[in-house]
This record gives sequence, structure tokens and C-alpha cells, in this order.
Amino acid sequence: MTKTTFLLEESEIPTHWYNVIPDLPTPPAPPLGPDGKPISPDALLAIFPEALIQQEMSPQRWIEIPEAVREIYALWRPAPMKRAVRLEKMLGTPAKIYYKYEGVSPAGSHKPNTAIPQAYYNKQAGIKRIATETGAGQWGSSMALAGQMFGLDVRVYMVKVSYGQKPFRRSMMETWGAEVFASPTNMTNAGRAALALDPNNPGSLGLAISEAVEEAATNADTNYALGSVLNHVLLHQTVIGLESKKQFEKAGDYPDIIIGCCGGGSNFAGTAFPFLADKAAGKDIRLIGVEPASCPTMTRGHYAYDYGDTANLTPQTLMYTLGSNFMPPSIHAGGLRYHGESALLSQLVHEGIIEARSVQQLATFEAGVQFAKAEGIIPAPESCHAIRAAIDEALVCKESGEEKTIFFTLSGHGHFDMASYDKYFAGELEDYEYPEEAIKDALSRLPKNP
Ligand SMILES: *Cc1c(COP(=O)(O)O)cnc(C)c1O
Repeated sequence: MTKTTFLLEESEIPTHWYNVIPDLPTPPAPPLGPDGKPISPDALLAIFPEALIQQEMSPQRWIEIPEAVREIYALWRPAPMKRAVRLEKMLGTPAKIYYKYEGVSPAGSHKPNTAIPQAYYNKQAGIKRIATETGAGQWGSSMALAGQMFGLDVRVYMVKVSYGQKPFRRSMMETWGAEVFASPTNMTNAGRAALALDPNNPGSLGLAISEAVEEAATNADTNYALGSVLNHVLLHQTVIGLESKKQFEKAGDYPDIIIGCCGGGSNFAGTAFPFLADKAAGKDIRLIGVEPASCPTMTRGHYAYDYGDTANLTPQTLMYTLGSNFMPPSIHAGGLRYHGESALLSQLVHEGIIEARSVQQLATFEAGVQFAKAEGIIPAPESCHAIRAAIDEALVCKESGEEKTIFFTLSGHGHFDMASYDKYFAGELEDYEYPEEAIKDALSRLPKNP
């Protein structure tokens, strides 16, 4: 029998997160404030605890994981790494396919890896409540879980279209004690302004962020938490890649290609960044971030300073963007619909160190179903993007006869996304190419800085 499961001991949960900033070929561009000048860290204190602001800009390569965080991580970490031998056979590829499974967390995805430390540092700073947003519900449920673990109240602005489509994600958040509202709400200026323009506004991640940031900025005991994009989020997610490196040692193997799906970029960066040092030292590794063709941030977006939210309350960061007023096409089922991308990941893509690729919706579901039939696990629609690319690379190996080692992160399970599988089986999902016009249009609306 070929060995297929690579496990670590509880004691092997990483003790430090890996910060990629000191190892970047060029220093990251600073975030800008409303005046178009580099923002002072103090300006962020209204919505983030100091410890996270320090991590956001830290020059330190290794940052210690607090013991209280490792104790909660131990509820599901170390996460398993598996070899997908049945999928390899089904494809008839000489390639070896490995995946890191992050669906074992209580919320079903990688997101608690950062929700837990974010709750911890906010609690340490004396904060009572977290206001946050959620699209498909994954982040909201992770934050609800984390708030419960550290005794913080959690208030979630959930994108209205998802609030209707994913009722059980809401039930999960409520089970862990969070309050959930369909965004846009009439509780914030940002929400009221959006509803005044269009009472049927289906909501967007950018708009829900505006609502949560506004609540955090106007209440002293409330902070904001973001589930992706920011440097400290990517930092926390490096537990994925750090564990995987040890697991590859146990497997006596090493990846030639590392793949992850990209919304804001956190699960992919968390997987890929710990391998970057090896690449810099001369290892021949390809790192591929995969996004939907309907939200082609890295593959077709502008590399420019832009805001993280619709109401432009956040600092501007230099990143790939489709424009902060991007409204995702509602036909798309996945949760990778954010207009921007992590600044660190964007920079590495821009510098040609990391590759970006987009895939069409139907092809991702086809890959997800094939994976489920071979390996059993039903993947989240987001994760199906990574699986699509992994299968495509395995098929390239089938053509060339190369025995490459392909590694991807299975960022979550799809148990709460079966409605989108139903739509796929019923033939109701479509491919969608984000229009060139809209991409051009975004250019004229990017912020103009001095
Ligand atoms: C949120 C989410 C993503 C996308 O977020 P990233 O920050 O890009 O990782 C991907 N997969 C799953 C399962 C998610 O919940």
C-alpha cells in the first residue's frame, strides 16, 4: 500500500509564524492614508490592537505564537497532509499529487488560523467586541468561533445575497454566539447610503467591510477584524506551509509546483511563503495562485494604489485591483469575489516570483466533483479552483511523462455549499468572463495621489 497520510504530533504545531517581509527582494510599498501620504501606525489604533499593527509592519522573520493560541490551534492542528493516489490513478498521470487539508477546523476552512490569534490580541488589548464582515460566511463563522473561545462579542455584517443563500452559515455563527446582520443594513452611514441609491442592493464584500469598519471606528470598545488580505492575516496562515514542509520531510518528497486558490490571498500565501526561501536559495519551485475568471484581480486587474472597501474608509494599498466599487457578478457561486488582493502577494506576482492564473466556474466544479469521487472529500467551491489547476498540471505531466510533485491546499470542505453543487448539477451555473470595459472603467476611478 502506498502511504497516503502524513500526520504530525500536537507538539509539532509551529511555535512561530513566518514573516516574509524581511525576505522580500524589495521592501513593500507603504499603505497610504486619506491624504495620499504613508499612514502612521497610530491611525490604525482606532480599529486594530497594537500587537496586530506591529505584526503588519514587522521586520522580524519569526514571530512567536502565544501559548493560548497554540492551545486552541490544537483543537484541529496539525492539519493532515494527504497524497491523492486515487485521483492520480483516475487521471492516469505519472505526477504525484499531495494536498494539505484545512477543512478539519471547526469552521471547515483555514480561516480560524487567523481568527484565533486576532481574537486573542484584541482580548489582550481590553476590547469587548469585534465587528466584521463575511461574504460566503466562512470568515464570519471563524470569527464567531474565535470570539467564543476568548470571550469577545462578535457582530457580523453578512453580504445580503449570501445571507439568503447560506442560512446554515448564519446558524453556525449564532451557535457560537455571534450576531449576524444582512448587509447593507440601515445601522451605518455606509449601509444607509447604499440603500438610498438602491433599496435592493444585494451587498458586496467591499460594502460590508465599510459597515464593519465604521462601527469599529466609532466605538471605543469595538475593533475590526479582517479575514484575508492584510499582512498579519497572511502571517498567521503560514502555519499551513510550515506544517506542510515538515510533512514533506516525512513523505521524503518535495513539491515542484505549489497551488492555492486566491480570494484575498491568505491560504495560498500561508502555504507558499514558507517555501519562498527555498526558491530564493535556488530550488526550482513554481508557485501558482488561482482565481476565478469572473473576478480576475491578479490576472487582469490594475497594479495600483486602491482602497480595500467601497466607502473608501480603509487605507490605500498597492495591490492588484478591479476597483473598490467592483460589484461581483451574482451568477458566480464561489467566495473568491473580492476586488483586491493582498499587497504582499500582489508584489510577488508583479515581480514575477509567483504566477497567477484564472479558471472558469464550470471547470472548477468539474474538478471538485472529480476530486470528491476519487478522494471522498467534497471541496469548498473556492478550493475547487486550486484543484482545477492541480489537475491541469497533472494532465500536463501525463502528456510529457514527467513525474512532478504537485501540492495544493484544500482550503475547506463544501458541506455548507451544496446549494451551489445542486446548481452545477442542474446546469444552472454559467461561465463568465469579467468584461474588458469594466476593467478599463475601474482605471479612471482609482484614487489620485499627489
Ligand atoms: C475565504 C476562503 C478562501 C479565500 O480566501 P483567501 O484569503 O484567498 O485564502 C478560500 N477557500 C476557502 C474555503 C475560504 O473560506
